[in-house]
Amino acid sequence: MPLLDAFARPLENLRLSVTDRCNLRCQYCMPEKEYSWLPQPSVLTFEEIERVLGIFLRLGVKKVRLTGGEPLLRRDLEVLVAMVARQTGLRELAMTTNGVLLADKAELLRKAGLQRLTVSLDTLDAATFRLLARRDDLDKVIGGIDAARAAGFVDLKLDTVAIAGVNDHEVPALLAFAKERSAEIRFIEYMDVGGATQWKPESVVSRAQLLASIERVHGTVTPMPRDSAPAERFSLPDGTVFGVIASVTQPFCATCDRSRLTADGMWLKCLYATTGTDLRGLLRTGVSDAEIAGVITTEWHARRDRGAEVRAGIVDRKPLVERDELRATPHLEMHTRGG
Ligand code: SAM
Ligand code: SF4
Ligand code: SF4
Repeated sequence: MPLLDAFARPLENLRLSVTDRCNLRCQYCMPEKEYSWLPQPSVLTFEEIERVLGIFLRLGVKKVRLTGGEPLLRRDLEVLVAMVARQTGLRELAMTTNGVLLADKAELLRKAGLQRLTVSLDTLDAATFRLLARRDDLDKVIGGIDAARAAGFVDLKLDTVAIAGVNDHEVPALLAFAKERSAEIRFIEYMDVGGATQWKPESVVSRAQLLASIERVHGTVTPMPRDSAPAERFSLPDGTVFGVIASVTQPFCATCDRSRLTADGMWLKCLYATTGTDLRGLLRTGVSDAEIAGVITTEWHARRDRGAEVRAGIVDRKPLVERDELRATPHLEMHTRGG
C-alpha cells in the first residue's frame, strides 16, 4: 500500500539534487550576479544519500531523478549512480542535466546503471544560448546529446523552457532537431519559482501558444492518453511525439507524487514549498532508519501542498521570492532544490 498524502497522492517520485553548483547561469533559474551556496560540509555524502534513499524506497518511492544544480559537477557521479542503481525497489533511475559535461560522462553513467536521461536545451542558436545561459557552451550541449545517443540512452528527452521574445520562435525548429535525434522534446512553461526573479506573466509562453506554433509548422497535433507524469504528450501526423508541461496555465498538482531532496538533505514536499524537513540533521545525529521513516511518513500524510494551483489563483502574480530573500535562504533557489 503506497504512502498517501492528505489528498491521496502517493509518495512515488523523488528528485535528488546532488549539488547546488552549476556551470551555466540560465536567466530563468540563476539570473543574478551573486549567489550564496550551500556550505560544502553540509552536502550529503554518497553513503548518506544511499541510506536516506533506502528509507524512501522502503516507503514506496519507485522513481528517482538525479538533478541539481548541474549534477555532472558532482565528482565521481557514476559511483553514486551505481550505488543508487543497485538499491532494492527502484523501478526507474533518471537524470536531468544541462549536457555541458555529458560527452565525457554518458558512457560511464550508462554502464553504472543510469536508465534515462533528460538534457535541457532551450535554443539552437549560439547567440541566444549566450544570452540565456550566459556561457558559450551550445556546441558542448549538442555534443553531449549525441554522446548520450551513442552511449545507448534510447529514450532520451530534451527539455525546453520557452520564454516569450527570447526563444519561443525556435519551438518548431527545436522539435525538428529532437526528431532528427530520435529524442522526445518537452516544452515547459516558464515558472515563477525561486531563482526566477525576473519572471513576469507576459514572459510565459502558454500551452495553447506552444501548440499553435507547432501546428503551424508541423501539422495537426493530437493529444495522447495522459498518465501521472507532468508532461502532456501529443503526436504529429508523421508520428513524432512531444510533450508540454503546462505548470503555469494548467497545473497538475492534483496527481503530484513528487518530492525533492536538496544536496544538503532538506526534504521539500513541493517545488513551491518555502520550508522543508531537515533530514541531514536526523542522519547525522544517530537517529535510526525507523525513526527517519516515521518522520517522513508523518510529513507525507500531512502534505496538502499544491503550489502551482495556488500560484495560478493569484491575480497580480509576481516572482515567488525577492532577490534579498533568496540571498539569505539558498534553499529557495531553483538550482538548490532541483527542477
Ligand atoms: N542543471 C540541470 C539542467 O538544467 O537540466 C538540472 C537542474 S535544472 C534546475 C532542472 C530543470 O529546471 C531544467 O530543465 C530547467 O530548464 C528547469 N527550470 C529552471 N528554472 C525554471 C523556471 N523558472 N521555469 C521552468 N523551468 C525551469
Ligand atoms: Fe540552468 Fe540547470 Fe544551471 Fe539552473 S541548474 S542555471 S537550469 S543549467
Ligand atoms: Fe507538485 Fe508542488 Fe509542482 Fe504542484 S506545484 S505539481 S504540488 S511540486
